[in-house]
Amino acid sequence: MERFWRTIEASAAIGGTEAGGICRLSLSDEDKRMRDTLAGWARESGYKLLVDRIGNMFIRREGSQPDLPAVLVGSHLDTQLPGGRFDGVLGVMAGLELLRTLDDRGVETKRAIEVVNWTNEEGARFPPLTLASRVFAGQAELEWALDRKDHAGKTVREELERIGYAGDAPVGDRVVDSYLELHIEQAPELDRRGIPVGIVVGAIPMRGMRIEVRGERAHVAGPPMHARKNALVGAAMVAIAVNDIGNAHEAGGGKTTAVAINVTPNLPGIISDRATLFIDFRHPSPGELAKMETEVHAAIQAAAQRSHTDIEVAERWGNDSFEFDRDLVQLLRDTAARIEIDTFEMRSQAMHDAYPMNAVAPSALIFSRHADGISHNEKENMTMDDARVGITLLINAVLSRANR
Ligand SMILES: [Zn+2]
Repeated sequence: MERFWRTIEASAAIGGTEAGGICRLSLSDEDKRMRDTLAGWARESGYKLLVDRIGNMFIRREGSQPDLPAVLVGSHLDTQLPGGRFDGVLGVMAGLELLRTLDDRGVETKRAIEVVNWTNEEGARFPPLTLASRVFAGQAELEWALDRKDHAGKTVREELERIGYAGDAPVGDRVVDSYLELHIEQAPELDRRGIPVGIVVGAIPMRGMRIEVRGERAHVAGPPMHARKNALVGAAMVAIAVNDIGNAHEAGGGKTTAVAINVTPNLPGIISDRATLFIDFRHPSPGELAKMETEVHAAIQAAAQRSHTDIEVAERWGNDSFEFDRDLVQLLRDTAARIEIDTFEMRSQAMHDAYPMNAVAPSALIFSRHADGISHNEKENMTMDDARVGITLLINAVLSRANR
C-alpha cells in the first residue's frame, strides 16, 4: 500500500495547490506531465501502452489468452479547477497497483487486464463531462468531440497534438470483457454509515441544461424600469427558482444546482443583453425528476415574463435511471463476502465514465468512503486504510473476471 500511496502523492504534486488539492485540467501542461509519469511507470513494468485518437491511455498487462477480450479497469486523471487529489486518481492508481500486485505474486491471468485513463472526464475545460468515454462507447462522434473548445477557443484536437497524446488507435470499436471503476463516493452516505466501501447497483437519473437568456443592451441610466430587458436579471430569476425547486423536493432526495453563469458584456454601466446559465437537477425517482423538469420549464417562462427577456433551453443532457451489470454486481457482492469486507449497496448520484461504458460492456462501479463525502474541493481526503479496502475488493473481483 505504501507503493500505491506514493503514486497518489506523485499525482498530487503535479498541478498541486497550496491547499492540498490539484489543478490539472484536461490536456494542460500538468495533464501532460501526469500522463508522461503514468506512461513511465507502465514502461518500467513492461506493460503495453496504447493511446487512442482522443488520448485515452490503455496500459495492458497481457493474459495467457491474448485473443480474449480484456478486463478494463480505470478512471480519470484530469481534475476540476481546482479539484481534490482522489477524484479519478484513486481509480487509475488502483488499477496500476492491481497490475503491479499481480506481478509481485507472479500471477498469470487468462484475459489481459487493461488500466484506462479516460481523457477529459471532468469536462471542466472541455464540456461536456465524460467526453472521451462517451466516444469510446459510441454515444458521441469522435470528430465532434475533437472539435470541443475551451474558454480560449483551443480545441481538444489541437491540445491533444500539442501535448503529444493524439494517438492513432481507433476510439472504441473493440470488444472488452467488462469495465470496473473504483471511485470516491463524492457524497457523505458511506462516511455517515461508517462503511468503507459501496457497491453501486445503478444510477439515479439527472438532467443538465444550458439556458440562454436574451435581453437588450442599454445604458443603466437609460430605459425606465418597466422597459428594461436585463439578461442578468432573467438568468438570476431562473437560478433562484431552480434552487427553490430543489428545496421543495429535498424530502424525497431531490437536488438542484444553479451551476454557472456567463453574462455579456458583464460591465459596470451596461444592462446585459446575454446570459448563459447552466443548471443541474437530480432525483432518485424518475417520476419526481420529470415533475421537477416541468417545474423548471414553468420557472423559465415566469422569469422570462417578469424580466422581459427571451429565455430558452439551448441544450439538455443527462441520464435516465439505469442498473449496472447484474452479474458484475453479484460478483462484487460475492467477492466482498468471501474476503469479509463490509459493504453497502447504493445508487450513484454523480456521473462517471462507468455510465457510458455500461452501454457497451458489462460495467460496475465501486465507491470508497472519504472524509465527509467532500469532493470537487481541495479538502477532499481519505485514509490509506479505506483506499486499501476498495483496492482489495477491486483486485479480487477483477481476478475472478480475468480468469473466466
Ligand atoms: Zn471523478
